[in-house]
Formats: sequence, C-alpha cells, structure tokens
Amino acid sequence: MSYDRSVTRLDEHTSAAPSPLLEHAYANDRARVFHSWSVQGALDPTVIVGASGSTFWDPEGNEWIDFSSMLVNMNLGHQHPKMIQAIKDQADVLCMVAPPFANDQRSEAGRLIVEKANRDGAGGHFEKVFFTNAGAEAVENAVRLAKGYTGRMKVLSAYRSYHGGTALSVGLTGEPRRLENEPSVPGLVKFWGPYPYRSAFHSSSPEEETERALQHLRDTIVMEGTDKVAAIIIEPVVGTNGILVPPPGYLEGVRSLCDEFGIVWIADEVMAGFGRAGQWFAWQNWGAQPDLICFAKGVNSGYVPLGGVVISSEIAHAYDNRMFPGGLTYSGHPLGCATAVASIAIFEEEGVLAHARHLGDDIVGPALRDMAERHRSVGEVRGLGVFWAVELVTDPATREPAPPATVGAVVAECKRNGMWPLSAGNRIHVVPPCNTPDDVARDGLAILDAALSVADDAMS
Ligand code: PLP
Repeated sequence: MSYDRSVTRLDEHTSAAPSPLLEHAYANDRARVFHSWSVQGALDPTVIVGASGSTFWDPEGNEWIDFSSMLVNMNLGHQHPKMIQAIKDQADVLCMVAPPFANDQRSEAGRLIVEKANRDGAGGHFEKVFFTNAGAEAVENAVRLAKGYTGRMKVLSAYRSYHGGTALSVGLTGEPRRLENEPSVPGLVKFWGPYPYRSAFHSSSPEEETERALQHLRDTIVMEGTDKVAAIIIEPVVGTNGILVPPPGYLEGVRSLCDEFGIVWIADEVMAGFGRAGQWFAWQNWGAQPDLICFAKGVNSGYVPLGGVVISSEIAHAYDNRMFPGGLTYSGHPLGCATAVASIAIFEEEGVLAHARHLGDDIVGPALRDMAERHRSVGEVRGLGVFWAVELVTDPATREPAPPATVGAVVAECKRNGMWPLSAGNRIHVVPPCNTPDDVARDGLAILDAALSVADDAMS
C-alpha cells in the first residue's frame, strides 16, 4: 500500500492561544520538576510549545525535525488529527473505567493487538492482552506471567539491553543505568547477545556470531539450571543500546532453546514494535514467534500512556482456574485504548508499515551508508525501517568509541541546524516518526550529514 502523504502532512502551526503558564514554564520546571535519569543541576530543558507531524518548536519559533520521535515513541508523529479526535471522542463518552469492568475500546484494542500479533490471520498462537500504563510495567507483568506459568524463578536478559526503570525491569537491564539501582531482584542473570561489529565472541561473520551467541546462551542456561529458568527476555532489535539487528538465525535459535528447556521467550517490543522495524512487531521480520510480547510506545504513539503484554493461548489459559497475581488501577484505560484503536486504523489507512519500510530501504538506509563511506568518524551504520544507528569511532581500524564530547558536539550541531537527534553512548540514533514524509526525512539526513564533519574533525 502506498503512503498517503496528504493525510499526515501537518505544516500548519496550531491556532490555539498561547498558554498563560508559558511565561513561567522554564523557571517552574527548574524549581519544581525532577527529571528522569538526570543530574538535576546540569539540566537546561528546551520548552516545547507545539508540534506537528515530524516537527516541533519552541516559544521563539525555533523548529526542529524530530529525528528522535521524542523517546522513540511518536511513531505516528505529533498532533495527528485523528488521534486528537479519538481522545476527544472518548473523553466525551467515558474517561475512566476500572479494570474489572468491560469496555468497548479496551475490548477492541485487545482484539486488534492480538490480530496484529497473529500477523493479520496469517498464523500465530496469541490470544489475550494484559494492559499496562507503559513499557516497564509490561516487562514486570510479562515476567510475572512467565514465573507463574513455569513455576520457576530465574530470568535471563542480555547485556546491552534496556527494559525499564522499575526495580525488576531495571534489574533486567544490561547497561549502566542498572548499576546505581543494585542490588536488584534475585534470580536475574545476564548473557551476551549478538553484535557482529563488537563481537563478544570474536566472530568474523554474522553466521559465526549467531552460532557462538547461541552456544553461549545454551551454556548459560545449563549452568543456571535448565529447570530453574522461567524466561529469556530479548529485544528482537535491541533499541537504546545500539539498534542491534539480530544476525540470521539468532531469534530462531533462541526459540529452539526455549522449546528444548521449557523456557518462556519474552520479546520486549516496547521500542521496536508498531512500525519502528517496519512490521507490527519486529520479530515478524524473522521466522520465530515469542510466547509473550511487551509493547508500549508505538501502540498509540504515547498520545495517552499505554502499554501491555500480548499472551500466547497456552500461557493465558494457565490462568483460567487460578488468579493472576498482578493488577493496575489503570489497566486498559479507555483513553489509552481508544487511541490504540485509532492508531491501528491510521496505520492501515495510511500504509504506515509500508512507508516505514520504504524510508529504511530507499531513503534512510542508503543515505546513512553513503555517509559511512564519506565520514571517517562513522564506524558502522545499521538498522531497518525507521530504526537506525550511526556508530561514531575515533579510529575505524580499532573501532574505539567516540567520546561523549564528540557525540555531544554532533548533537549540538544538528540542533543548531534544525534537527533534533537522539544520542545513546557513542551513537546517533536515526528514529523519526514512521510516517515522516520523504522530503522531511531527506532534510533531516542532510543536517546529520553536515554535522558528522564535526566528528571527523575531532579525529585529527
Ligand atoms: N523496554 C524497552 C525495550 C524500552 O526501550 C523501554 C523504554 O525506552 C522500556 C522497556 C520501558 O518503557 P517505559 O519507559 O514506557 O516504562
């Protein structure tokens, strides 16, 4: 299906009157708002007053192309009129209903999300959805489901992963944000996933990386006790920690190991799902289906907080005659679910999955590969759909990661020229909304191209 640009091309700024609170927005933020993952005293937040499509702006009228989709969640971009209408329509009808009741929007969101997990009827074993407010709670509840289903306690997760900021989900996280939160929940074990560019297994090809990563995972399971491991949680495409696309056969190998040892495979699709990797769920790019899928972010682009877990029939029915020991006041919130229903309809009406693949195949991927040829500071580019990383190095031969000062200088140069990138470690992540028009994507890429010269200059 081709992408209808006219539907979401939103060049007009809002006609709404400026907020009277705006004058004090910055001062009150600095005085009264405590921010995520930050040294509070070092903050200097940009005040945002409006946004449209793939662009947002500040009170002075400075505009940026949003190459970060905020926090990689605005898969449909900003202020999509049909999303706004869905919120208004549902607000008029019913703003809140507690979890024990049934509700048309929640029921429909559940039906649609299961349909998408089962590849629109092309096959799959998914049956139910447990709704949460966001991604970390999806991870918490997926692990809870897996532990209850298997009667086992241990959970394996990868180094170079992010699973959320709650006690369990940050404990599963395989990067430095976990370290300040330890000690964590008992029974969490880490393993190395595949990453051909910086192989933990000294592999010389993607195929070798798959083979060695799977052998390492098998060894880890055996050493931890094959009958002790409840679940393995994996981001099918690792997001924040590098946009690591799995080498051929890796996810299929994980599936086989889980089958062999009776382990639940949890796919954390909080960032990779709903179009980011060009499919409803990233794992659908390969040949193996997980048992539980965590989702949030792109399910409704975060217009209203929403997340959840898609549950296989077998695991769902394990709770037919016993209690599921978890719950949330806002599980299946009608405003969140109404926007999920609207979002899935927009994806279908506007061919958003096809457009995401087109952006990756025809625009972003080729442009980044071309930049990698021309910029000495680019060690590798990788990705798919609208999910790409540009890895900056000080020396292409040693692959030494570029220092924070270099990455910061590239980011500052992008912002100065009207593009808001997302940086993580020594990488720039190119993650615009899935429905970004071609010309806007090209404009943002041109800004990145120019800014990479700053990193090249820093090398010499
Ligand atoms: N899992 C993954 C893969 C994520 O990328 C994130 C957030 O970035 C989370 C879980 C946590 O989601 P949330 O911040 O909505 O709790």
